[in-house]
Amino acid sequence: PIDLQVWENRHSAVKLGDKLGEGAYGEVRKGVLHRKNKKLDVAVKLMKGGELNKMKIREMMNEARLMRNFKHKNIVRFFGVAVVEQPLYILLELVNGGALNTYLQKNKVSDLELMRMCLGAAQGLQYLHANHCIHRDIAARNCLYSNDKVVKLSDFGLSVVGNQYKLCAAQKLPIKWLAPETITTRFFTPKTDVYSYGVMCFEIFSNGAEPWEGVTNTVTKNNVVNGINLVIPESCPEKFRSFVHEKIFVVDPKRRVVMDDVSRFIEPIINDMHNAAAV
Ligand code: ATP
Repeated sequence: PIDLQVWENRHSAVKLGDKLGEGAYGEVRKGVLHRKNKKLDVAVKLMKGGELNKMKIREMMNEARLMRNFKHKNIVRFFGVAVVEQPLYILLELVNGGALNTYLQKNKVSDLELMRMCLGAAQGLQYLHANHCIHRDIAARNCLYSNDKVVKLSDFGLSVVGNQYKLCAAQKLPIKWLAPETITTRFFTPKTDVYSYGVMCFEIFSNGAEPWEGVTNTVTKNNVVNGINLVIPESCPEKFRSFVHEKIFVVDPKRRVVMDDVSRFIEPIINDMHNAAAV
């Protein structure tokens, strides 16, 4: 028998259930993982192999390799893979509320809950950066939201370990989430994640609206490199709103805050909102 590492599972250990969604790789389905007489609810990313999918498989295995090191409440937990048979499986923590952008579009969310989303995402990203990982694709569509209202960062397909990463090939990029220096130099760093996080805050306070809606990619790029940025809606507490405008949407990455600063800034705002709501 094949010697399977702990994070490698046999297909027979996974019972597939209903479809949860459709990703770039293929289907995502509910599942139950049987491990040592225990049953665990999971989400299963399925993917067919073959020549056409080589690049995608590399991304998927990159995602698996990175995610298995992470354990944090704001990061989707990784439970292993099943790769001996086809289709390949990635087994993840099941997050029942679905993608964050869809949740924002479909639900009326209180200001306090919105701020808590910003904090949860900030803490997840802070943890990633402390572990020398650059996410590279921070956006509401790449976060999941649990039934108990916890934001979980997901989609580590593009993530890298290190202090910086230079894009070499002509890779498709989510222009409207990119930091100005990525547009001009093609470099990604933890600071470029901070900028994308700012764009995600725009999404959070705009009911999941698309940033720069109706604006072309070319105009968006021009705006961003010239310091013309998104305007966070007024539904955002003023303190945090000016923080995003003045400390996150900053052209020079050296003058931009790090994720530690962001979490530290949000915490007292939430405490104040919480106390005001209790009065
Ligand atoms: P893309 O890169 O286009 O966003 P992807 O291949 O990375 O796609 P995901 O976005 O991760 O795939 O997944 C597609 C959909 O499946 C999500 O929008 C979500 O609805 C569902 N989904 C993914 N992972 C989970 C999970 N861990 N728990 C619950 N649902 C999930």
